[in-house]
Amino acid sequence: RRGTAGPAIAQSLGFDRVSHAYGKVRALDDVTLAIEPGEIVCLLGPSGCGKTTLLRIASGIEQPIAGRVLMDGREVAGPGGFVPPERRGIGLVFQDFALFPHLTNLANVMFGLKALPKAEAERVARLALDRVGLAAHAMDYPHALSGGEQQRVALARAVAPRPGILLMDEPFSGLDSRLRDLIREETLAVMRETRATCIVVTHDPEEAMRMADRIVLMRAGRIVQQGSAGDLYRRPIDLDAARFFSDINEVPGIVRGGKLVTPVGYFAAPGFAEGAVALAAIRPQAIFARPPGMCVPGRLIAKRFLGEVDFLEIAVDGLDQPLKARVRSAETLIEGRDIGVDVAASEVLVFAVPEA
Ligand code: ATP
Repeated sequence: RRGTAGPAIAQSLGFDRVSHAYGKVRALDDVTLAIEPGEIVCLLGPSGCGKTTLLRIASGIEQPIAGRVLMDGREVAGPGGFVPPERRGIGLVFQDFALFPHLTNLANVMFGLKALPKAEAERVARLALDRVGLAAHAMDYPHALSGGEQQRVALARAVAPRPGILLMDEPFSGLDSRLRDLIREETLAVMRETRATCIVVTHDPEEAMRMADRIVLMRAGRIVQQGSAGDLYRRPIDLDAARFFSDINEVPGIVRGGKLVTPVGYFAAPGFAEGAVALAAIRPQAIFARPPGMCVPGRLIAKRFLGEVDFLEIAVDGLDQPLKARVRSAETLIEGRDIGVDVAASEVLVFAVPEA
């Protein structure tokens, strides 16, 4: 099958109670995750949360200190034995592309095809370069290419052997933002064609939302939440998870009769005890500017035009911090004037105050 045309046979990938440490540094703490064949999973989380370590363990570059890794149900790391990286049939793409500078682009792509007769390897490598639009650069060296082109070569090299599993570590972070969008879309197209099971590591929530079938949010070596982009955005499990996905206003209040009472409105607070102090998490998009005299009284203290929306800062009595809002059609709003503040209560989530 390998090296021939046609999609890969996607494999499932499982982590069963995987832990890892570098000396005394605990990098992963009891991670269990099952990835379906053909699924695109993004590992998302702040720097140092263990994303890269989980990817390295999947690839076999790193051996976990506890737990098991399974490919199609077969143990590739754990007490039952260890399958080295080169025998796992996995494609890898790294942040820094990791192309061999002394090899042509064609030879770079052929590197992963050593199991094939040379003529066949060359044919497959040329097809892969053609797929990423770089057929004309086959005989050039990587340094003669732009960053985006180098990343395409790295992708071609990773997918040419038709791996059942493709692992990518911050694959677009070396690219500027416009190019990143373009290369990301191209990469997604190639990923869908190859139909490999994919894990993509990123610290960028928007990137994860664009790419993933499922987002796995990590923090301090653990999985804190997983689900679709909509699940994580609309129903973050805690305040930190909410903060990770977007800027939010954190408005304190006291629970009375099942609702959090705040200076900007009352919000459903299921599960909170009467009299508890809690925070309303209000996204800037959930705030609307109304004429003065309507809703909660506020004063517009700053307005910045951002293109599709305006960014507003609104002072409200009883709040230490101005509210941040992103609103459409703010042409008529004038800094320094009174306005009404309307919060979309159905979009507000109430969280416990995090421990300092
Ligand atoms: P980043 O987004 O910054 O790459 P990450 O989420 O990928 O972060 P890891 O690289 O997996 O996180 O690191 C997890 C923890 O392990 C961190 O505390 C990190 O400092 C530590 N760590 C990672 N690699 C090593 C190493 N080779 N030696 C010692 N500590 C390490």
